[in-house]
Amino acid sequence: MHRQPPRQSFDRVLSSMCTQPHPAARAAAADFYASNPGDPETYQSIAKLEARAVSLLGSVVGDRSIDGYITSGGTESNIQAVRAARNSHPSTTPNVVAPETAHFSFSKAAEVLSVELRTVPVDETYRADIDATAAAIDANTALVVGIAGTTEHGRVDPIPELCELAHDTGARMHVDAAWGGFVLPFTSFEWSFADAPVDSMTIDPHKFGQAVVPAGGLLVRDRSLLDALATETPYLESTTQASLTGTRSGAGVASAVAAMEALWPEGYCETYERTMAIAERLADALDNRGFDTVEPHLPLVTASIPRSLFLSLREAGWRIATTAAGALRVVCMPHVTEATIDAFLADLDRLR
Ligand SMILES: *Cc1c(COP(=O)(O)O)cnc(C)c1O
Repeated sequence: MHRQPPRQSFDRVLSSMCTQPHPAARAAAADFYASNPGDPETYQSIAKLEARAVSLLGSVVGDRSIDGYITSGGTESNIQAVRAARNSHPSTTPNVVAPETAHFSFSKAAEVLSVELRTVPVDETYRADIDATAAAIDANTALVVGIAGTTEHGRVDPIPELCELAHDTGARMHVDAAWGGFVLPFTSFEWSFADAPVDSMTIDPHKFGQAVVPAGGLLVRDRSLLDALATETPYLESTTQASLTGTRSGAGVASAVAAMEALWPEGYCETYERTMAIAERLADALDNRGFDTVEPHLPLVTASIPRSLFLSLREAGWRIATTAAGALRVVCMPHVTEATIDAFLADLDRLR
């Protein structure tokens, strides 16, 4: 008899930026496993759904008129944002300026695309430093990157100020909201297309969007940035393709639409409020126990705990991670509940 391996359990997963997909997203994915939005003239229903996905993302990011496509994830979106900026900038030695908190996908982008990546120190609140960023920008800067929800501390960079710096020297401005994009609409942070004339953005339905993997988003304010990515496509009915990959997941696209139709905006708002309350409670609990804790701005908590305790918790089955500096990092995704945190703290008290 055919035995199915057990499905991934999210019970003790505190380290991941992915989560349990919404039931509607799971069902929609199953309907579109065998379709390919990379070939829109052949697979016309998924092509329509992709346009719908981009338009729904437009609502989330505060500008219904944006353009874009559904990528394989934040990495592809960031690579493509760097590529679009590079291709539409006159410099023969282009550079990208990003805070040191930028996701490692920008290192991959720089290497693949042969652009120089200039990383800039952040301030004491872990946010991009405007003066340091200004000093790193020059006439060869094709792209300035700001992060709305950093991977390590969940911080939001000063996007409007970075945007101004970028545009003053003819660079493009990219916001990486891969993780934060579906919670930020319910905060008072300035991060979206509505807050500043951002040129491109990464926002991943397969993280807080609760779609299945793989579903990322690359959004652009101006269609010309997508044109800067176009490759001619002989033997397809469509004549050009902007995506980096060829055959793409129809499951990701259909699930992104289903998740957003089910959850935008009330469901995502409720998720934000619930996960943020959990993050605050966990941060208080860690702080009360004497661990040096960084106050959460988004549903993500970091705290310095002894390495031995970290290893004991992993041993006890907790899927936890550390920051580059070695602090415990807990991502409060939608599958994390009050009960999860109670059980985690009970184990922590028992093991310390
Ligand atoms: C997760 C993440 C990425 C990378 O996204 P993938 O979907 O893993 O490729 C990029 N930037 C930020 C800020 C992220 O949190």
